[in-house]
Amino acid sequence: MKKISVVVPCYNEQEAIPFFYNEIIKVSAMMANEAEFEYLFVNDGSKDRTIDVLRALAAKDQRVKYVSFSKNFGKEAAMYAGLEKASGDYVAVIDVDLQDPPELLQQMFRDLESGEYDCVATRRVSRKGEPPIRSAFAKLFYAMINKISKTEIVDGARDYRLMTRQMVDAILEVKEYNRFSKGIFSWVGFTTKWLEYENVERRAGETKWSFWKLLKYSLDGIVAFSTVPLSIASVLGLLLCLVAFVLIIIIVIKTLAFGDPVAGYPSLMCVILFVGGIQLFCMGILGKYLAKTYLETKKRPIYLVKEDNIDER
Ligand code: UDP
Ligand code: MG
Repeated sequence: MKKISVVVPCYNEQEAIPFFYNEIIKVSAMMANEAEFEYLFVNDGSKDRTIDVLRALAAKDQRVKYVSFSKNFGKEAAMYAGLEKASGDYVAVIDVDLQDPPELLQQMFRDLESGEYDCVATRRVSRKGEPPIRSAFAKLFYAMINKISKTEIVDGARDYRLMTRQMVDAILEVKEYNRFSKGIFSWVGFTTKWLEYENVERRAGETKWSFWKLLKYSLDGIVAFSTVPLSIASVLGLLLCLVAFVLIIIIVIKTLAFGDPVAGYPSLMCVILFVGGIQLFCMGILGKYLAKTYLETKKRPIYLVKEDNIDER
C-alpha cells in the first residue's frame, strides 16, 4: 500500500491543530483501503503551546510525527524540512488552518495513481473574505512577475499540493537559502494538474502574514526568479541620455536664435533631484540582488532542529 506523508507547517497554531487533526483523520479513515498516512507537523519556532499539543497528539497516535525548530525560520523553511523528513511515496503540503480542504487529498491521490501526473496542485479562484487592497496588490504582483520571469507563477496558486517522491526529491535538490516555493514548484517542471476551489476562511487562530510581510515576500519572489529589474538602470540611463541630448539641442538653438538667458535655478534643481532619485532607486535594486547573493554565499542551514520524534532512516 502507498504511503502519504502530510507535511503541515505550524507557527503559533495551538488553536488550529486540534481542528486540523480531526479533519485529517477523517480523510485517512475514508482512504483506509487505498493508502496509509503519516502526519508530519513542523513546529516553526512557535511561541505558544503548539509543541505541547503536538507531543500530546504524537503520544496517542503513532502516525503523528513532528519536527520542532530552534526558532522561527519561516514557512518556506518549514516546508523544506517537512519534505526532507517525509518518508511517504507521496508527499502533501497543507496549511493547518483548514484553508486547504483536506478532503481533496483523495482526489489528488487518485490522480497521481493514474500515473498521468507528478503533482496535483490547487489554486483558489476567488479571494473573498480578503481585504480588497490585498487582492489588488496580489493581482499586480502576478501580472508583473509573469511578465519578467521565465518561470510561470500561477495566480492564486496555494502551496497545498500532493507530489510524487520523484518530484519531492527534485525540489530538495534546489538548496537555495532564499526560498520562494511557488516558483520552485514550477521551476522543477514535471506535469501538474490544477484543482480549483473557492477561498475558505481560516478556522481558528489568526493569519501570520501582514500586508508588509506579503509585500516583502513578493519582492523576494521577484528577485529570486527574475533578473529583469537589474536592467532597469541601463534602460533609464539610456532614456535620460536621450532627453539630455534633445534638451541640449533646444537650448543651443534658442540661445543662438533669441539670445535667451536660460532660467537656471528651478529647472536645474528639478533635474538634479530627478536624476539623483533614479540613481538611488537603481542602486537600491542592485543592493537587493547583492544582499541576496551575500546571504546565499554564507551557506547557512535552512533550518535548525531542536526536537523531533522521527526515527532515523
Ligand atoms: N506558517 C509557518 N511559519 C511562519 C508563518 C506561517 O509555518 O513563519 C504556517 C502557518 O502556521 C500556516 C501556514 O504557514 O499553517 C499558512 O499561514 P497563514 O494561514 O497564516 O497564511 P495565510 O493563509 O493567511 O496566507
Ligand atoms: Mg491561512
